[in-house]
Formats: sequence, structure tokens, C-alpha cells
Amino acid sequence: MAFTVTAVDRGSAARAGSLSLNHGTVETPCFMPVGTNATVKAMSVGDLEDLGVRLILGNAYHLLLRPGPDVIRAAGGLHRFMGWPHNLLTDSGGYQVFSLARLRRVEEGGVSFRSHLDGSSRHLTPEDVIDLEAIVYGSDVLMPLDVCTAPGITRGEAEEALELTTRWLARSRDRWRSIEAPQKGDLFGIMQGNFHRDLRERSAAGIAALDLPGYAIGGLSVGEEFAVFREFTHLSAGLLPAGKPRYLMGIGTPAYVLEAVEAGIDLFDCVFPTRTARNALVFTPDGPLNLRLEANREDFGPIDPSCRCTACRAHSRAYLRHLFKAKEILAAMLATRHNLAFLAAMVSGARSAILEGRFTAFKRAFLSRYGERQPGSQSGAEPAEI
Ligand SMILES: [Zn+2]
Repeated sequence: MAFTVTAVDRGSAARAGSLSLNHGTVETPCFMPVGTNATVKAMSVGDLEDLGVRLILGNAYHLLLRPGPDVIRAAGGLHRFMGWPHNLLTDSGGYQVFSLARLRRVEEGGVSFRSHLDGSSRHLTPEDVIDLEAIVYGSDVLMPLDVCTAPGITRGEAEEALELTTRWLARSRDRWRSIEAPQKGDLFGIMQGNFHRDLRERSAAGIAALDLPGYAIGGLSVGEEFAVFREFTHLSAGLLPAGKPRYLMGIGTPAYVLEAVEAGIDLFDCVFPTRTARNALVFTPDGPLNLRLEANREDFGPIDPSCRCTACRAHSRAYLRHLFKAKEILAAMLATRHNLAFLAAMVSGARSAILEGRFTAFKRAFLSRYGERQPGSQSGAEPAEI
């Protein structure tokens, strides 16, 4: 893996770069659509390629339960199984174990839980997760097993979670280093520390010492106020090595993404744009729009005249409203294409602004038109879509 910071903004920590992975180079900042079950819901591989998407997420936990590692191994890995020739990042599923699975028990060795699908007993160690991602799935970026925490826990609990996350990361790294594969993916470390500044510092120091190809920030956008999210995003980004890619997990609305970019984050992901699209909520430059509303009944203009996606080039708000009302599958497909295209165009605009040293002005102009007065309402805190 090679990561190059091409430019840093003049008035902020925002940066533009390029990340070379096993299946091609990705320009950063980059929003990664979430493909939990080896599919970005309502999008074909061709749809994603048309939008210029070259890096998507899969989820080790979900794919372990269904279809199971034997199927993916027999298919020749996750890329071949899903027909995706570009880069894949797999999340370990630590977050899903904590949000979805029943009767979970966390111990030094790993985590035991019952499948949310059939109740079967499972046990995962940090080493199991690395084996799955590196050997069975063939992921380009591997996320290790970590312990996620929500706001409102005690300081002691937060401390325990971060220490265990760091110890698990050291074991993950040892396993990852021991694997000999021609195209082994890159392991990222995950920072935890909840909402304590000194714990974030301790976590950053612990994971940076392991000298990994990249670093992620976990445990933010889990229901905290936007001001708290902002404070901890800037703090956390600043604590991570400047020469390595930084990934903020679980954010996907314009206000959150632009805040993260301003803090110097390179990668982000969230189910928000795709999930809300399936619920008829689409992004426009003037703020979110609910396509089901009566106001769209005879509105024969596109969702966004400046958008070049299929939905906007060929169809009207009135038609999309009709599709949603009639529960047609095409509604979800078109709205998803639009939301991903909108976010990709926004991030690409942010990248150009960074290269020209005017990111702060770009962000201000974008958000003042978007008008998100209460940006704290994204759903990053929800369990991953199932
Ligand atoms: Zn569009």
C-alpha cells in the first residue's frame, strides 16, 4: 500500500491524497458505500462503477454468518464472489457483534455470541477475524476486531474497552504479519477511548506504536451531540500519524463528512445515504428532500438539476414520488444512485477546493445553502443494515 498526501488546505487540516491498494488507486478524501452483505443495496457493480466508486465496504461478521466462509473460499474470495474487481475494505464486525448479536460475552481471548440470524453459538478471536479477511475474503483493507462503546458509559468501562482493543490489535498485527499471501491486504488500527480526551490520546499512542499501514477512528457518531462529535473528530485526527491514511468510521451526511474532511480525515463510510434513499429521503443542494411529499406530486423537475445521475437526467420528482407510493423496486434503485452520486460529487468538490487552498470557503458555502441547522441527526449510531 502507498499513501501520498498531495495537498493540505491553506486554512484547515483538510488534505487531498491518493491511496494505492491491491485493486487500484483511490483518490482521497473518499466516501465508501457500505456493502454489508456483499452488495451495496439496490446497486449493481456496473452502477457503482458508473459513479466512479472504486472502494466499498463488506462486513466480516455478516459474511461469516451468511453465506459462510466455505462459500466465499470456494468462490475464490470476496471480489470474485460478488463480481467486484475494485477495492474492498472489510469491517471486522466488532460493531455488529455489540449491536446485533445476542448473549455476547467479551473475554481476553475474544468474543462469544449468538448469531442474530439463527441463534447459533459463535466465538471469534482477533486472529480468526484476520484469517477471514486476509485469507478467505482477500480484503484490500482489513479492520481488526475491536470493542465499541457508546456514550454514557463509565470512564472505567471506556478505559477497559480501549485497552482490550489495543491488546487485540497487537495480536491482530502479529497474525497479519505471519500470513504469507501474494496480495495480502493492509491492516488498519482502530482508535477508541470514548469521549475522554486523555483516553483518546492513550489509544492513539498505543496503536501508532504498532506501525500499521493506516488508522481508523472508532466510537464517534454514536449518538453524541454534533459539537462533541466535532471536538473529538478534530482531536482524534490530530493524534494520528500524518503520513498514514485516516478513516473515520460511520459518518455519511454532508455536515459530518465536511467536518471530518476539515479535520484531515481521508476515508469515511456510512449506511445513511443508501438507507435513507430507500426511505425516499434524498440529498439536494438545498437540503434533504422527502420524495413522498405531496409537494412533489406534479413537480416534473429532477431531484437536483446539477446532478448527473440516471435519476436526475431521466426522471422527475413526480415520477420518483409515484414509484415510492407504488412500492416499485426502481424507486430504491434510483434514489440510491442519486444519493451516492450527490455525495461523490460533494467530496470531489471538496477535493478540488483543498487542491486550490479554499476548502473552508467551500464548506461554508455548501452548508449555508444545504441549511442543515441541526446536523446531529444522522443515523450512524444504528446497527449496520441487515
Ligand atoms: Zn441525481
